[in-house]
Amino acid sequence: MQRYFVNPEQMTEQHVTITGDDVNHIAKVMRSRAGDEIICCNGHGRDVVGAIESIAEGEVRVRIIQQTLKNRELPVQVTIAQGLPKGDKMELVIQKGTELGAFSFFAFTSQRTVVKLDDKKEKKRIERWRKIAKEAAEQSHRSQIPHIEDVRTWKELLASVPGFHYALLAYEKEEEIALARILTEVPEGASILLVIGPEGGFDEKEVEEAEAAGLTIVSLGRRILRAETAPLYGLSCISYQFE
Ligand code: SAM
Repeated sequence: MQRYFVNPEQMTEQHVTITGDDVNHIAKVMRSRAGDEIICCNGHGRDVVGAIESIAEGEVRVRIIQQTLKNRELPVQVTIAQGLPKGDKMELVIQKGTELGAFSFFAFTSQRTVVKLDDKKEKKRIERWRKIAKEAAEQSHRSQIPHIEDVRTWKELLASVPGFHYALLAYEKEEEIALARILTEVPEGASILLVIGPEGGFDEKEVEEAEAAGLTIVSLGRRILRAETAPLYGLSCISYQFE
């Protein structure tokens, strides 16, 4: 059954009103008709099954016929901070990371970042990343679309650390503390920041700054993972631990 995300105010006790691009998708792509059933999610954990009542120009009205569906969200809120990678690797991280249950993503620039984004390019990328997150959330039957936040500088990333219950930085030279070990201490409901470096990784000074800012340095195993593999490994470990 096709799944559509709406804003909370578009979903009342008995009805959902769908507007925007999804109207075209329902009418022209899916060729749906009155009576067809769809799933609607308000992005705050309320997923319902509804029957289409009417399809008009710019608006589809849906009557709710089943109130709640299975919760498919991870029991912890994981934010992936990804060193801005080259090409379209961030798209892969967002698509696969959404399937694996990430709560939000942001890219950051650091010492070894090679990609340069001006404001215009960044705005375009963010728009594209949001679209990818929405489609991946629909495909994987998520109740929430992960937040795609603006690109941050290294300093801004460090300043955001106190906002999380657990803040972890993956570093391939870490030999003592494994991500899996830290996860055994994390309770359900906690927020986790997982910071992954760009292709060239972090320099030692950055790792020291991260520790000083309150990040715990963790290993993701014995092998060196590519920048885009590392967050997916992390999310898979988190899923294994909690699900
Ligand atoms: N600079 C390194 C090199 O060239 O040998 C590799 C960097 S790696 C391609 C990119 C990022 O993935 C790293 O900054 C780190 O965050 C993460 N990463 C990859 N393998 C890891 C591992 N085994 N343990 C912890 N982090 C890892």
